[in-house]
Amino acid sequence: MSGGRPERLGRLIADAQLDALIVEGAANLRYLAGYTGSNGLALVRADGGGRFYTDFRYASQVAEEVDDAFECEIVTGELLDAMAGALGAGRVGFDDTRTTVSRRARLGELAAASVELVAAVGLVERMRAVKDEREVELIAAAAALIDELFGWLFGGRLSGRTERELAISLEHEMRLRGASAPSFASIVAGGAHAALPHAQPREAPIEPGTLVTFDIGALVDGYCSDCTRTVAVGEPSGRAREVYEVVLRAQLAGLEAIAPGVSGRDADAQARTVIEQAGYGEFFGHGLGHGVGLEIHEAPRLSRISGEQELVAGNVVTVEPGIYLPGELGVRIEDLTVVRADGPQLLSSFTKELLVLD
Ligand code: ZN
Ligand code: ZN
Repeated sequence: MSGGRPERLGRLIADAQLDALIVEGAANLRYLAGYTGSNGLALVRADGGGRFYTDFRYASQVAEEVDDAFECEIVTGELLDAMAGALGAGRVGFDDTRTTVSRRARLGELAAASVELVAAVGLVERMRAVKDEREVELIAAAAALIDELFGWLFGGRLSGRTERELAISLEHEMRLRGASAPSFASIVAGGAHAALPHAQPREAPIEPGTLVTFDIGALVDGYCSDCTRTVAVGEPSGRAREVYEVVLRAQLAGLEAIAPGVSGRDADAQARTVIEQAGYGEFFGHGLGHGVGLEIHEAPRLSRISGEQELVAGNVVTVEPGIYLPGELGVRIEDLTVVRADGPQLLSSFTKELLVLD
């Protein structure tokens, strides 16, 4: 699965005028080397070869998993220390958004004087933003699991159950159906509580006559999904129906904008305009969406501040506008989609009609 990635990274390293790159972070190491353990560090050279560092707990895992492009070293003590001492000479990139100030200082102390440490942000993340078909399959499987779960949950009664109990039973059922874990802490938020976009499930029961937002995702074979549906429990108010309809129109406008060559900012603007024109602009305070893959939030971003960076085929992004009326209600609708040359490919397919449940 990881064949060719170290070589491709090597070319990016050369393009950045570096001799080598220090790679950290579980998702980066899994992507690059196939390693699924928690303690690891890699040094990748511009020729695509590299060295992989871990400790004795992962010795057999490294032997099984790590790509042949790497020589593996089992380290006693700090991985960074072992790597720094072996850096040799040349320009070595490190990600200054991941490396703490103290680790940067330690590297400088231990590396030879002939090593020049250069801040180099996000080379692996840039590769990860463009998924291959195998990755899309895994994300699609994680998304399909959420469709299934919504079907299962919404077939039963919701009123009187607490947000917390609903979240727990969703996460339990998710695991029974093949997820290794939720891909993030599930959000179940009813009534006015749903006006907090990142609401924590409470012990409070779902009240009839309210909207309830479910934002959940599954982790399947290392890949995440992310999907939100808002449903009505009992007959919703006219205002609730109106807000729901605006969010749905914004979500469809956002999806329509998803195409190669469109900037994250422009995609965001397409959905945001619908909400602004309906008079709810100030109640949509977050960005339209984010990339999803080995991590639940990764590149690219779709928001007012994401700049001119353009979407490319193979990006997997969420489209998730919302309207949050403080003290009253919240609505968010979120789909996961693949950017394709011939239009977005939806990975989540659960209905977006406003369901009115018991
Ligand atoms: Zn979500
Ligand atoms: Zn999301």
